[in-house]
Amino acid sequence: MKSFIEVAKESDFSIYNIPFGIYNKGEVTAACTRIGDTIVDLDKCLKVGVFNGIDLPSDVFLRPVLNDFIALGKNVTSAVRLRLQDVLQQGGALDSDKYEKSGIFISKDLVRMLLPLHVGDYTDFYSSREHATNVGSMFRDPNNALLPNWLHMPIGYHGRASSIVVSGTKIKRPKGQILQDDPISPVYKTTKQLDFELEMAFVIGKNTELGQTVSTDEAEDYIFGLMLFNDWSARDIQRWEYVPLGPFLGKNFASTVSPWIVTLEALEPFKIAGPEQEVKVLPYLEFNGLKNYDIHLSVDIMEPYGEPVRVSTSNFKYMYWNMCQQLAHHTVNGCNIRVGDMMASGTISGPTPDTYGSMLEITWRGTKPVLMTDGSERRFINNGDTVKMRGWAEKEGVRVGFGPCDGTILQG
Ligand code: MN
Repeated sequence: MKSFIEVAKESDFSIYNIPFGIYNKGEVTAACTRIGDTIVDLDKCLKVGVFNGIDLPSDVFLRPVLNDFIALGKNVTSAVRLRLQDVLQQGGALDSDKYEKSGIFISKDLVRMLLPLHVGDYTDFYSSREHATNVGSMFRDPNNALLPNWLHMPIGYHGRASSIVVSGTKIKRPKGQILQDDPISPVYKTTKQLDFELEMAFVIGKNTELGQTVSTDEAEDYIFGLMLFNDWSARDIQRWEYVPLGPFLGKNFASTVSPWIVTLEALEPFKIAGPEQEVKVLPYLEFNGLKNYDIHLSVDIMEPYGEPVRVSTSNFKYMYWNMCQQLAHHTVNGCNIRVGDMMASGTISGPTPDTYGSMLEITWRGTKPVLMTDGSERRFINNGDTVKMRGWAEKEGVRVGFGPCDGTILQG
């Protein structure tokens, strides 16, 4: 397939991708896709008849979030995506002077991308074995780094949906209770250990009823697509507060997502086997087929006037627990899920230090600082720094990526 719109070789937005997002330009807020550097307004496409024959409410692309569109179900959303792929090809229906193209196509530089979902609930897992082992080694015991439950279930916690923000949103450095010099009496201070966590999130595309379970075989029906996810973490706040109920204010001040939802259909060619699961899992966590994805990931830190420094080159394929197991586990007690819910993978760390997904691990608790281009060192993230995450899959000349997941830290 080849589009009549120019797509650079290294673009995340080839004709094979066709992700969904929400853009704003002046008075207009609408659903869109992107090809190369061109935003495609889906409402305008609907009005000129691109989606004729697909059962769509007339205003579905004018809503401020994609929840209602996603809730139409994969029969509809897949048909829309395939139709877009068709009309955007060379010689396709939109490759014609018949249409007033200025309304349909807009340069990406002229729009602002918005958070494309109303996120009702957000769950964060802890599913990378290397990450859990690194953290367990640092904070507990290198010989017993994994807690006894870890190999038996995808560990998770309920996070905060209200503070999920889209790429580009500036984040104020949080304050909280921190142990400074006294090991038992905290002070109220700005965090000195602001970290990122390199993660991917999946978006729920279908509701369940309370009491209903989703099996690993059914799970993909309930997953609409994926986004890049930065689970910002204040390590000093986290360390003091997390016992016994887990993460709270050290995590819920902000999480950054990329603006595009890349569909499972677009990622299908990049499926791959995950790591061998060492312990035999309970039957509800068994699964068939390839359930991991070969998605390259990177993290750069950029100081205010410097050049980006790459601190991690990882891959989503390293996840020990896959998304189908996560969703089966999440619903095994009858917990209901709703369209737009977001479930993040947990920090994605690979086997070697260059693949670690947080500064905590990359600098090994600050003992191996990262050198920036201005000669300064980073143990954690400074005010003015921008953390830039990227993700892309590539195979036989086909490239599908996620766009930016960037956040800049402001003085708290
Ligand atoms: Mn996390």
